[in-house]
Amino acid sequence: MNIYDLTYEKMEEYFLEIGSRKFHANQLFEWLYSKRIKDYSEVTNIKKELIGKVSNEYSIDRLKIVSVEKDVDVNKYLFELDDGEHIEAVLMRHDYGNSVCVSSQVGCNMGCRFCESGRRKKVRNLETYEMVLQILMIEEELGERVSHVVVMGIGEPFDNYDNLIDFIKIINHPKGLAIGARHITVSTCGIVPKIEEFSRLDLQINLAISLHAPNNEIRNSLMPINKVYPLEVLIPCLKKYLKATNRRVTFEYILLEGINDSNECASELASLVKGMNCYINLIPYNATNNLKFMRSSTVQIMRFYDILKKNRINVTIRREFGSKISAACGQLRSKKEDL
Ligand code: SAH
Repeated sequence: MNIYDLTYEKMEEYFLEIGSRKFHANQLFEWLYSKRIKDYSEVTNIKKELIGKVSNEYSIDRLKIVSVEKDVDVNKYLFELDDGEHIEAVLMRHDYGNSVCVSSQVGCNMGCRFCESGRRKKVRNLETYEMVLQILMIEEELGERVSHVVVMGIGEPFDNYDNLIDFIKIINHPKGLAIGARHITVSTCGIVPKIEEFSRLDLQINLAISLHAPNNEIRNSLMPINKVYPLEVLIPCLKKYLKATNRRVTFEYILLEGINDSNECASELASLVKGMNCYINLIPYNATNNLKFMRSSTVQIMRFYDILKKNRINVTIRREFGSKISAACGQLRSKKEDL
């Protein structure tokens, strides 16, 4: 087990379980997340014997950064995990701060047709520490703080729910990475039971839904998950989420030429989300090896945008980052594999 797996509460419990006191969690969190120690021998205020016990059970090992590719305002990190698997994370510099796009699984089973990351089937879930360390290590490589986190890298976060929630608790904890809940966004393709569970958590995290279609026919053809949780199930679930949490939901909508970008689609989308406290993030499609999909023209993107605006839907067009170094949405792959 790895020490970066433990939430503050779990670490307190651990110290109690081994017959010690819970305030040691406070001390150890300080060493791990403020002082950023790399070895237990650096801990000076916890007895040698006790810290020895911790070190026998929890390794303090980090991931390996295999490479960092840099472009204007964006870095892409390739990490190697203990079992030799690889994952990627992306750092984006915004005027409001540094944001990191974190991966949640090795591979992905959701099979969205347009997505490059999903071409490799899920190998396994990431452990909590493997998500925490993506951010911690990027902060250290940069020598700067990360202020925003989006769980939008490789994998479906709600298919790795428990580890995801512990990860969020650690990065959000004031003694942990202290990233504000409102600065954390989880993106899902729409796993309804997990959205319901998420609604019941008292966390002010942002929820984003990969929608990508205004009706079942189109969505079925793009996203197999829609056959399990079609729109007539997903949308009411989100309405319940909005009511329970008083929050806003973001819909991500990739514009694919000739597939989901017509004016009719825009009107249909406006009616679908009418009355919901939401905003729609239009995503220009990033090229992948799949030649079936093409980015909509800028003219059509603007038309689509205008129709939503006219219907009084909050809408933005996603700023593009990192397509030159294949670090853009949907371009992350867990390994440099044959294409
Ligand atoms: N599985 C989660 C997290 C991945 S998020 C989810 O589905 O939300 C990655 C976001 O990028 C999703 O909205 C995904 O649909 C989108 N995406 C995938 N491939 C893309 C591409 N080639 N161009 C632009 N966006 C893409």
